[in-house]
Amino acid sequence: MEKIVECNKICKNFQMGEVTIDVLKGIDLTIKKGEFVSIMGPSGSGKSTLLYLIGGLDKATDGTILVNNKELSVMKDKEQSILRRRDIGFVFQFYNLIPNLNVEENILLPILLDGGKLKDYKEKLDKILEVVGLKDRRTHKPRELSGGQQQRVAIARALINEPDLILADEPIGNLDSKTGTEIMELFKKINREQGKTIVQVTHSREAAEYGTRIVNLLDGKVVET
Ligand code: ADP
Ligand code: MG
Repeated sequence: MEKIVECNKICKNFQMGEVTIDVLKGIDLTIKKGEFVSIMGPSGSGKSTLLYLIGGLDKATDGTILVNNKELSVMKDKEQSILRRRDIGFVFQFYNLIPNLNVEENILLPILLDGGKLKDYKEKLDKILEVVGLKDRRTHKPRELSGGQQQRVAIARALINEPDLILADEPIGNLDSKTGTEIMELFKKINREQGKTIVQVTHSREAAEYGTRIVNLLDGKVVET
């Protein structure tokens, strides 16, 4: 199988005044196209940091990361952000929706940011709303939706550019267990039926088991995969 993510000896430290915090201490991790990987580990072990580095939202202190054979961190800002929006979809614990935009506008945000027009995406939007089960909510504002529905909007937004890779940081961390299960079923469907590669960070063993592989982080290293 083709590789989609390749992390080589990733180190990340944060400088806090005089103090250096070594968060990641040499991570080697390869993810193949079509995998559904769950990253687990104690709070503060660097799970979010690793996910953000893979997604190009932050830069590693050392080591290289390739996504689709491209090294995001060496690209110019503009080139990087275009590629990031095209190749990678992000899902966060607190949904990160724009409160004054409705469901369709939130989903189309990555397209609108690249100069696309809402009217050209109606058909695609219909398909995605069907996938995430929100066909009857397209003009609702985030505050009019439940947490689970808001996360479905965020997942739809992550899918709109048809990226190969979806990165999800604690996607069910703010949801009750029944809703969490429904969201995990949705990720499983997206992985199986659309072949999307998914990398999720999770605290929950049950959620992690939805993945095809579990990667454990401890003290800045991958301890078991
Ligand atoms: P996890 O997601 O596994 O709970 P994080 O990746 O969020 O862990 O954080 C790992 C460590 O890095 C923590 O000690 C955290 O305080 C520190 N850290 C994360 N981001 C920053 C930052 N921007 N500046 C300073 N320290 C940070
Ligand atoms: Mg985290």
